[in-house]
Amino acid sequence: MKTLAKLHAEKGIWMTDAPYPECGHNDVVIKIHKTAICGTDMHIYHWDEWAQNTIPVPMTVGHEFVGEIAEIGAEVNGFHIGDRVSGEGHITCGHCRNCRAGRRHLCRETLGVGVNRTGAFGEYLVIPASNAFKIPNDISDDMAAIFDPFGNATHTALSFDLTGEDVLITGAGPIGAMAAAIAKHVGAKNVVITDVNDFRLELAKKMGATRTVNVSQESLKDVMKEVGMTEGFDVGLEMSGNGTAFSSMLECMNHGGKIAMLGIPGKETTIDWNQVIFKGLIIKGIYGREMYETWYKMVAMLQSGLDISPIVTHHFPISQFKEGFEAMASGQSGKVILNWD
Ligand code: NAD
Ligand code: ZN
Repeated sequence: MKTLAKLHAEKGIWMTDAPYPECGHNDVVIKIHKTAICGTDMHIYHWDEWAQNTIPVPMTVGHEFVGEIAEIGAEVNGFHIGDRVSGEGHITCGHCRNCRAGRRHLCRETLGVGVNRTGAFGEYLVIPASNAFKIPNDISDDMAAIFDPFGNATHTALSFDLTGEDVLITGAGPIGAMAAAIAKHVGAKNVVITDVNDFRLELAKKMGATRTVNVSQESLKDVMKEVGMTEGFDVGLEMSGNGTAFSSMLECMNHGGKIAMLGIPGKETTIDWNQVIFKGLIIKGIYGREMYETWYKMVAMLQSGLDISPIVTHHFPISQFKEGFEAMASGQSGKVILNWD
């Protein structure tokens, strides 16, 4: 079968042949219909320091997908051949304390599909059946293909009560823009989002942000005055991984504010801890999606009218995967979908 793999320890990604995967007793094999390209895939594509230290070569990459069940392991219940599914890309151990308590997103032994084990950019993918998630008929393939990053946005945005609150999102990448849509959907007051990329800020506006701020041209503090905020943001969602963005978030939070941190900052990032301490801020780190509460909430929000469809800006047949990766690398895109059919 065809797969997209990291074949060489250098920039790039290559189409190659791999054997059809073996379906273990507790696994399902999924025939892949669509995949989406994640920022993580771009790190692997560019072969940056993180990728060099993390990714075994050769390996099939990718973890955002929708497909249908093609084979079911002997011990698996609850799935049928042909079921349309996406899946949780974090494979957890199942026997640590957090896993046993149903807090699988906090498993210490998490392995990533397409990061630590064979990924979804292939004609078929094998994962534990417990990681597959059935997609209701009224949810499109495009939406199902991006449940992984939509889940990052959902897990982060729903970490704190947003109803009636002033929300600051730093970073209008695909996840930040989806978080803006979610914040509006659940009844936030002002949803202000920052970036340095106008294309992405435009997209975030389309998704429902009430005010976008290009921080290379405008000051966030001026914008707060303009929208009538006299105290500070109630909730911050850090989605840029940029230290300067996080510092300005700390400065613009109200006392007692709450911050959910998804963006992955560089090792050397320093912050002014006085902002945290004297404002009594609460900061929560976010990794992945809650298994599987986040997945049920995503379905429910889409079914109750949340529209994140503008985030998908590009589609390519898998034969044009190179164009897909280039579109992602350009910074002039939301989510890019590769069609395997
Ligand atoms: P992305 O890289 O597409 O988006 C980040 C955005 O931040 C970009 O649009 C960039 O222009 C913007 N940015 C850069 N400097 C800025 C500044 N000073 N102020 C405001 N914005 C600035 O990433 P994404 O796919 O949307 O993911 C968002 C972040 O979350 C990334 O850091 C990613 O690594 C991280 N992430 C974390 C998890 C997790 O489980 N914790 C999962 C997925 C992604
Ligand atoms: Zn575990």
